[in-house]
Amino acid sequence: MKERKKERKKMRQKFFDSSFSLFFSSSFNIYIHTHTHAHVYMMPKLKAVFFDLDDTLVPTSVYDVRAYADVKASVITWVGKIQLDVDKLVADFKEKFVKAPWDPEYKTDVFTWRSRVWEHALKLQDVENAEEVGLKCQKCFDDNRMGTFPLYDCVKDLTEYIKSKGLETCIITNGHHRVQRDKLEACKAYTLFENIIVGGEEVLAGRKEKPDGSIFVKACKYAGCLPSEAIHVGDSLGADIQGGINAGLLATVFINVKARDMSTIQPMPTYTIKHITELKEIIDKLLVV
Ligand SMILES: [Mg+2]
Repeated sequence: MKERKKERKKMRQKFFDSSFSLFFSSSFNIYIHTHTHAHVYMMPKLKAVFFDLDDTLVPTSVYDVRAYADVKASVITWVGKIQLDVDKLVADFKEKFVKAPWDPEYKTDVFTWRSRVWEHALKLQDVENAEEVGLKCQKCFDDNRMGTFPLYDCVKDLTEYIKSKGLETCIITNGHHRVQRDKLEACKAYTLFENIIVGGEEVLAGRKEKPDGSIFVKACKYAGCLPSEAIHVGDSLGADIQGGINAGLLATVFINVKARDMSTIQPMPTYTIKHITELKEIIDKLLVV
């Protein structure tokens, strides 16, 4: 008899738990009445959408390819009669560049730093005027990339849609402060986004960039919302998705630019899309109350 009672109690508890989690998994604000008080439980509700910049709002990788092609075509004319292997030159540049894209001690400005990486790659092919050509290579790369660096066409429409739903936005972009500010200027991000946080500036100020939760908490302050009311959209699992998880955001949206196999990836985003154009659907889903 006692056993049966216990079993029934267990079942009731189980039912209560599942109903409760069902309530919580939907987006309703629910009222739970007790004997004496009515408690209001506010459910997570979408109030802000945060975006990464590179390869999320702007196809930076595409512009990089274009800029490297320009350097390859131009450098031949700057090195005199030397038979230059331009593919090797770019490969050697990239190999050194990825290890330190700018001076970690911030003593050398980023343009000079990157020019010197070109100089190093040129010297590997015995280019005599490597210093001078290195400067030209970096100028060529920057001019090409920044000369035409527009946002994806859909971003204007998307931000207008987000604003029409009463939601706030913020760009959270990692990277060197000067380089990222130049990119933001070049793509006119300021015309569509009021709130912009540059990871490199946070680092300079002694704070942390993505994936640290603090940079997302700062974005929440700008947007006037809680982390549980914001989503973050980005193409980097390590910086964007892990960052959103670290900050305890409502959801993370992964832009699978490189078409990675989603069954094996870590960390796991809440949503995965191929392109930013698919974001509206997710926003609509999260707005349903
Ligand atoms: Mg990115």
